[in-house]
Formats: sequence, structure tokens, C-alpha cells
Amino acid sequence: MEELVCIGCGAKIQTQEKDKAGYTPQSALEKGLETGELYCQRCFRLRHYNEIVDVNISDDDFLKLLHEVGDSDALVVNVVDIFDFNGSVIPGLPRFTSGNEILLVGNKKDILPKSVRDSKVTQWLTERAHEEGFRPVATVLTSAQNKIAIRDLIDTIEAHRRGRDVYVVGVTNVGKSTLINAIIQEITGDKDVITTSRFPGTTLDKIEIPLDDGSYIFDTPGIIHRHQMAHYLTARNLKYVSPKKEIKPKTYQLNPRQTLFLGGLGRFDFVSGQKQGFTAYFDNNLDLHRTKLDGADAFYDKHVGSLLTPPSEKEKLDFPKLVRHEFTIKDKMDIVFSGLGWVRVNADGANPVVVAAWAPEGVSVMIRKALI
Ligand code: GDP
Repeated sequence: MEELVCIGCGAKIQTQEKDKAGYTPQSALEKGLETGELYCQRCFRLRHYNEIVDVNISDDDFLKLLHEVGDSDALVVNVVDIFDFNGSVIPGLPRFTSGNEILLVGNKKDILPKSVRDSKVTQWLTERAHEEGFRPVATVLTSAQNKIAIRDLIDTIEAHRRGRDVYVVGVTNVGKSTLINAIIQEITGDKDVITTSRFPGTTLDKIEIPLDDGSYIFDTPGIIHRHQMAHYLTARNLKYVSPKKEIKPKTYQLNPRQTLFLGGLGRFDFVSGQKQGFTAYFDNNLDLHRTKLDGADAFYDKHVGSLLTPPSEKEKLDFPKLVRHEFTIKDKMDIVFSGLGWVRVNADGANPVVVAAWAPEGVSVMIRKALI
């Protein structure tokens, strides 16, 4: 059989893997062959709905793309998930983009409690960027989902790109597609900055959104971050790790040697210190279950998949075992379960606290200066 390629991007047409390049539903393939206009689903959606669809690419392709960014004179827009900064960092980003200016976008701001001031989050994100080795030219907080600060972001991009191309980079799940779609919507509603009624060039590795002055916004595909909790759950349970609305913090007064189970996805042990309040920031639907530390291992083995869920009975068969990380804390700190949320601990030098955080093997747990 002759090899079929998409006339939009040149990808080899295939009907099996939805999230891979060239995917075309069987019915569309037949229709395309009839009419002679064969587009893959991604290009079809892009042409007809101005909508970006995710395609997963390999690490190698992603690195190649990043190098390409480094070889051009461009503004780099790095989208991260405020709720999961560590799960959204691109390791070595400043090295790959070699000196190009980076604008940092903290997306999903709608999830954070409303009481948190933007300036505090912006400062916090900027500090994290410094730790990663780059100094963003600006840091903007958005909610792609609720269309908050989209115009603000466009204006900030305009102010900093100075006639250059723009590369939007980010790992999967940070909301990059939703954000680009929101940008396109905002702009096509009000055509002064970017002309997006059509996308002449859709290439496999990136999407070009033409700007009035002949420059482009390039949307590069995201890469999967293996530390994200999301990769261990099925679609039905993803809602627990990808909250859709403002999280309501819950404070628990714990005695030493008490444990909080985070559904069956993680566990927080108060090992030693004075009785005190711990504030938990997790999706509102995730059940937190308090129990005694002694016997907690057996409790988990017995109840994971039923009382402690997600994972479900079925998911638990493939769910990685929980791994313990111990911390001695002498300040106001957050213990972060990557992609799931965090527990705020209020220790100080005179009253140090020892806690242990358990997360599925492969999912990182870290400690950071308290965000809130
Ligand atoms: P991408 O892989 O980076 O392109 O991310 P997507 O755009 O596919 O979004 C990943 C998930 O995050 C989806 O479930 C989105 O609905 C959700 N999402 C995207 N933007 C936001 C946002 O601003 N707030 C919230 N709460 N969720 C968002």
C-alpha cells in the first residue's frame, strides 16, 4: 500500500494512536481519499476550528526543538503550572535557549485560593526561576481555562518581543494548548495584534501563528514530565490531580504520630514536634483520612482502592508503591507532592518538626518556602 501523508503537515497518516502525529479517524481517512484533501486530525481541527490539539513527541525531538529555539533570535514564553511548578520545569531550559529572553507564564491561577495575592505568587515563581538558572524578563499569572489575564499576557509578549519571533514552550498538562487557544480567541476577536484567521504553515514539530509584522508565534509540542502524578492515573481519576476550581485549604490539628492519607495517592506523617495545625492544599474532591502513624502501613495495604481512593480497585494493581521521604523543618515550609498539592508546616527554629511524606515511586516530593 502506498504511504499516505497529511497535506497539512506531512505526517504519515495513521488511524491507531490518537495522541501521535498523523492520527486520522478511519471515517475521515475514507472521506479524505475520496475528496483528495487528506488532513490528519490535528491539522483538520486547526484549519476548521482554530484549535490546537496535543501531539506527544519523543525526548529527542523535543531537545532538537529546544536547540532550534536556541539558534534563533526569539522571545521564549515558558508556560508552567503554578499548582505543580516542579512537575512543569524544563530541566536545562536556560542552556537550550542560549541567552534568549524568557517570559514566564504561571498558568492555572484560578486554582489558588483567592486570598493569595498575585504579587506574592509572582515573586515566588520568579525566585523559583532564578533557582532554575534564568531571570525571566517578566512573570505573568494566567488562567487559560477561565480566560483571565490573556490580554495582559498578549500585551506583555508584544512589549518584550520587539519584532522577534515567539516560541511557546512547556511540558504537557500545564495548559499550553488551552492558553494558545485562548490567545487565538482573544486576538481573532480583536484583530489588532496578531492575524490568525488562517495558519498557512502547520508543521509537524511546531505550529506557526503569523503576526502582522512578519514574525511568528511558534507553539512547540509539550514533553511528558515523568514525575507528574498524572501519568499514574486513568482519565477518570485525573480530576484529583488536575483541579478545575479554587482549592479550599483544610487545616488539621495533629498530634505527633498521626498520619494523613491523601486518598490512596500519598501520605503525610507527623513524626515529632508539638501538637499543631497543618494546612492541606489538595483538590476539594480528594478525601483526606486521618489515622495513627503506628499501623498506618497495614492500614494502607488493607484499604487502598476502597476507603483510600483513588487509585480505584482496578488502578491499584498497577499503582506504584509509596516511597517515604523524611524532612526536619525549622521554618514555614510547604511539603509538596508533585502534581497533587502540598501541606503547609509552621515550624520555627525553637520548635522544629519532623514529618515524612510518602508519594508513589517516581513522583517527587520536595520542600519549599511556604507559598501562602
Ligand atoms: P498542555 O498539555 O500543556 O497543552 O495542556 P492542556 O491545555 O491540554 O491542559 C491540561 C489540563 O489542564 C486540562 O485538563 C485543562 O482543562 C487544564 N487546564 C488548562 N488551563 C487551565 C487553567 O487555567 N486552570 C485550570 N484549573 N485548569 C486548566
